[in-house]
Amino acid sequence: MPAAASAPDFIERLKSAVGPAGVVDDPAAMAPYLTDWRGLYHGRAGLVLRPAATAEVAAVMRACAEAGVGVVPQGGNTGLVGGSVPDAGGASVVLSLSRMNRIREVDPLNFTMTAEAGCVLKALQDAAEAAGLLLPLSLAAEGSCQIGGNLATNAGGTAVLRYGTARELALGLEVVLPDGRIWDGLSRLRKDNTGYDLKQLFLGSEGTLGIITAAVLKLYPRPLATETALIAVRDPAAATRLLARLRAASGDAVTSFEYIHRAALDLVLAHIPDTADPFRAPHRHYVLVELAGAEAGAALRAALEAMLAEALDAGEVLDAVIADSGAQAQRLWRLREAISEAQAKAGPCIKHDVSVPVSRVPEFLERAGRAVAQAMPEAIVMPFGHMGDGNVHLNLTLAPGGDGDAFLAQTEAVAELVHDLAIALDGSFSAEHGIGVMKRAALRHYKSPVELDLMRRLKAALDPKGIMNPGKLL
Ligand code: FAD
Repeated sequence: MPAAASAPDFIERLKSAVGPAGVVDDPAAMAPYLTDWRGLYHGRAGLVLRPAATAEVAAVMRACAEAGVGVVPQGGNTGLVGGSVPDAGGASVVLSLSRMNRIREVDPLNFTMTAEAGCVLKALQDAAEAAGLLLPLSLAAEGSCQIGGNLATNAGGTAVLRYGTARELALGLEVVLPDGRIWDGLSRLRKDNTGYDLKQLFLGSEGTLGIITAAVLKLYPRPLATETALIAVRDPAAATRLLARLRAASGDAVTSFEYIHRAALDLVLAHIPDTADPFRAPHRHYVLVELAGAEAGAALRAALEAMLAEALDAGEVLDAVIADSGAQAQRLWRLREAISEAQAKAGPCIKHDVSVPVSRVPEFLERAGRAVAQAMPEAIVMPFGHMGDGNVHLNLTLAPGGDGDAFLAQTEAVAELVHDLAIALDGSFSAEHGIGVMKRAALRHYKSPVELDLMRRLKAALDPKGIMNPGKLL
């Protein structure tokens, strides 16, 4: 910590701001806050603080602003770009939102929920369901990630096609600013054209502009019927045609459209207990599709069967399994959602999180697959992801017997190749995971000077002392 910051009275000020229950200073207890989910980033910090109320966050920020000490906001620590852990310098404090986990209000007539930043996403989905409503944000980390982290990263997930990213689900925010002031922007309005939309600054800012302490989220009616199917398709081009067919023929009832390459499915079957291939024969390309209907009963299923029959005739679809029960639907979803977990168990993995226009996904997969195979013959390319919104995780694992260190040493070179291709196809080098530490060089490389200048000016205007999540994003 800076000299002023390690002074005993400063430490005492922080500790008294959050009370004894909010201080973690034992090295063993601090350790989980200092390493990211993938174990790629390890940092050090003077203290971990766990405030229980917005006023406590504000008191911490005031003290840190005066002392010029960096603050690293942390939610569920499931981020994949190293944004939620401090750097190795040890000069910052980690501010975990996990004790701020109260749902302040569910308003079923306004279709909104007001929740504190530390609420785990799954708990909010469950609370919405208990009120007969739907919070559509959904991702494989939902049992651990927190809504504050979801908003700070503008998380995507599996329902973006129908409901948008986290940004589109936020109506209002409460934010503690770097100088300790509290901005109460907890608007529950769907219309409010009164100047700049300030909440947009903090959504997706990865903790670099302020600390989100609470949010108003949009809720939706629950669908009256849901159908889930795992569909073997001829190739990615057939998959995009199938998506257009399903959207048009169902009255836009498709909520999820997830691509799974056979190599990714094989990894899940090998490493995740209680999983099984639902088809008799293997296929190379699959999509996991979910449709939500506005009519109860069997109508949606009959419509899906008819649409699939047409797609089969058109040569797009090779085979399909439609879930007969909620339990079977969950088993199909498990095959998709366990891919990251299976990759973590399988050994070294290189991940890419790119997006291109949906119509260009097949070209991207074809060209990127070919280029990576040429550059890294020892890699198994296993793309999967949110094809319905153009976001593909082009992940690579190491073929059996390969050299893990040599494989990982190529991470940056292969990322450049994949990112260049995504950009050439009008895409993005970071679709939903953000920048953190991992993609700072790419941000500098791909963003225009005008964009970088505007970003730096915003940062300087809101955080002139540079204490919010130092070294992240910019
Ligand atoms: P953290 O990891 O704790 O923090 C992420 C960033 O937000 C950091 O920069 C941190 O400083 C900042 N931050 C956290 N809380 C706050 C706050 N209250 N105020 C200000 N800044 C804050 N992401 C997707 O978008 N889509 C997916 O489908 C998806 N799937 C995933 C699957 C798995 C298995 C895993 C491990 C991760 C996945 N992720 C996905 C990435 C991750 O879950 C998301 O980025 C998530 O939104 C992070 O939330 P968190 O609470 O864990 O945030």
